[in-house]
Amino acid sequence: MKRPFIFVLVLSILMVTISVFNSLIFYDSSGVTSSKKNELKTKNYESVDEDSPKINVYNVDENKTEEMDMEEYLYGVVSSEMPSTFDEEALKAQAISARTYVVYKIENNLNSGHEDAAVCTNSAHCQAYTSYDNLVKIKGKSWIKSDYEKVKKAVDETRGQILTYNDKAILPLYFSTSSGKTENSKDVFSTQYPYLVSVDSPYEEDSPKYVTTYSIDKKKFIKYLKNSYPSIKLSIDKLENQVKIINRTEGGCVKTIQIGNIKLSGIDIRKIFELNSANFTIRNNNNNIEFTVKGYGHGVGMSQWGAQGMAKEGYKYDDILFHYFKGTDIKDMY
Ligand SMILES: [Zn+2]
Repeated sequence: MKRPFIFVLVLSILMVTISVFNSLIFYDSSGVTSSKKNELKTKNYESVDEDSPKINVYNVDENKTEEMDMEEYLYGVVSSEMPSTFDEEALKAQAISARTYVVYKIENNLNSGHEDAAVCTNSAHCQAYTSYDNLVKIKGKSWIKSDYEKVKKAVDETRGQILTYNDKAILPLYFSTSSGKTENSKDVFSTQYPYLVSVDSPYEEDSPKYVTTYSIDKKKFIKYLKNSYPSIKLSIDKLENQVKIINRTEGGCVKTIQIGNIKLSGIDIRKIFELNSANFTIRNNNNNIEFTVKGYGHGVGMSQWGAQGMAKEGYKYDDILFHYFKGTDIKDMY
């Protein structure tokens, strides 16, 4: 019975010795471990408190380039890109994404189409933007008082923060609604970014575009396809066997679809029939072809409705961003 006691005693002495030894090596008078100190040092470079930068924005409607304060530009972007009724945390995630997008464009010299401007106001090309004056006109004064202030707060509270991967601004793609899963960037844009990978997106059901249907007369279906691909061979009474989905991406989009004698991608079909996404099923229904479409948008990066769903579940903006952009960090630029 004595041996175990001696063993425990020796062990206890050893543990005390080790911990004293440790504190001699790793603690200094401030009581902060050296590893913690290094962490603080890295954070110091982040907590610089500089003015927000001025950026050039090409205004598509007015056909001119305007110099704007980055943060003020973001008020107009977040107001246009995400419903202001969304949760504060989703709006913050959107604000950081929009800010990162501009930084990514500047850092990578990607000003295609508007040479002296980093970004334009066309949502299909860069990011949607509405000026304060136009927001007053379009949305009214009571919206400005409540919702604009809410958007502004989300931007202000994330001031200067951007998303990085290996210390560089990421390409923070976002879109409206996923099918329950996002897409790998290589499946949609043929370039794979390590942080733009397929992830589950479980809280999308509230989106009005979670599932949509689109029905088209068979004659028109063939006509539209022939307009884009004249060599296509289809006959109206054999369509059932001539149209077949061959495979799908990890996120669920149609990767390859056999249409008569040619193979197309889901993205091709989305373009021709202006579907909400490339994630669809096709069914014959008498004289019609019926599409059931899941989600809205390209499916890569952050789903805005998914972000809203996560926020409603209690997740914070950084949880949301780290979920949709794998392996990224948030850094303060200014
Ligand atoms: Zn643009």
